[in-house]
Amino acid sequence: MNPYLIFILTVILVGYILDLTISIVNLSSLDPRLPDEFIDVLDGRRYAKSQSYTRITTTFSMIKETATTTLTIVFILIGGFNWVDGLARGFGLGPIGTGLIFTAILFVIVACVEMPFSVYATFVIEERFGFNQTTRGTFILDLAKGIILAVVIGGPVLAFILWFFEIGGPWAWFYCWGGVVGATMGIQFIAPVLIMPLFNKFTPLEDGELKETVANYATREKFKIKGIYTMDGSRRSTKLNAFFTGFGRFRRIVFFDTLVEKLSTGEIVAVLAHEMGHYKLRHVFKMLAASILQMGILFFILSLFINNRGLFAAFRMDHVSIYASLIFFGFLYSPISMLLSVIFNIFSRRQEFQADRHALISTGRPEMLISALKKLSITNLSNLTPHPLHVFLNYCHPPVLERIRALRKKRSSI
Ligand SMILES: [Zn+2]
Repeated sequence: MNPYLIFILTVILVGYILDLTISIVNLSSLDPRLPDEFIDVLDGRRYAKSQSYTRITTTFSMIKETATTTLTIVFILIGGFNWVDGLARGFGLGPIGTGLIFTAILFVIVACVEMPFSVYATFVIEERFGFNQTTRGTFILDLAKGIILAVVIGGPVLAFILWFFEIGGPWAWFYCWGGVVGATMGIQFIAPVLIMPLFNKFTPLEDGELKETVANYATREKFKIKGIYTMDGSRRSTKLNAFFTGFGRFRRIVFFDTLVEKLSTGEIVAVLAHEMGHYKLRHVFKMLAASILQMGILFFILSLFINNRGLFAAFRMDHVSIYASLIFFGFLYSPISMLLSVIFNIFSRRQEFQADRHALISTGRPEMLISALKKLSITNLSNLTPHPLHVFLNYCHPPVLERIRALRKKRSSI
């Protein structure tokens, strides 16, 4: 048997078994006793509801992963990629055109497999727990807009990568890296103005106590912003969120309308102070630098496997091509990307604690951040007792109880 095939199947199966194990231990660590911290804000019935939400979403993801893993393995073994390649080559285009069609067909296949799961998650599970606000119309429109964006942005980027590798020689990976970094930065700049308004409506926050308090806080912190907006998050879900978009003086603060509705002014400022902490402590910059570096590593290793005949034999391909190399490389790279994501999560969790601490010091009101965190996790039915292994591997935020504990400890020490 082809060594690449053995390696890829092992990676897929080990990843699958690992995920399944974590899901199972995570379910077993659901504790019916309500944590003391939440006794004042949560009753037994709502706590039971949040646990049943964790149980159902976890079981659902196990079923989904079993189905997609099985289909992936079958697709590889029956030579599905070679069949798609035959279809793409049938159009009689050059290597770049064929590559775009090849990728588009795979994209459609993956979308068709994932569609029923996505419909079920939105319209059955989220609906049942009262989160879903997405209408069928919104769901279909989102899908259509997503496809158009993938074609308009993803298409040219992919065409450039293929073109660089066709003509680029030994430095192709470097040009690709530069090109993709440039495109990513460009997208960050145009996203708040051109892309995000396609999906949501952004309204400047209306004058009043909240706007004044937020603006005063930003001025006091010497934090330049372009504007304060609310976003109609309620169009899709009742879940709460807040974030920044853009860079430097183009930065905007965006609050979900659901957040403005559910949180008090003091709590919203605390959430804002946390988000600002990420900028002030240069987290945003560090994460961006890390992801640029990671992209460089990815393209370099990719360049070593372009047109590797052993790899093409593993996928039962008749023809060697750069576009298929990109896809097959994705399978080889997945253990590295899993490892990098665990490292990324470790740093990210540490940064969350730091941003919490920043919010505490700059507002001087830790109880506001604590009650905001409680409201967020109650409304979003977050799992209050995730298993430590699950947290270690998959959580980019520390569990809420750990954050509250750290805030209380810090408060008593100042
Ligand atoms: Zn954060």
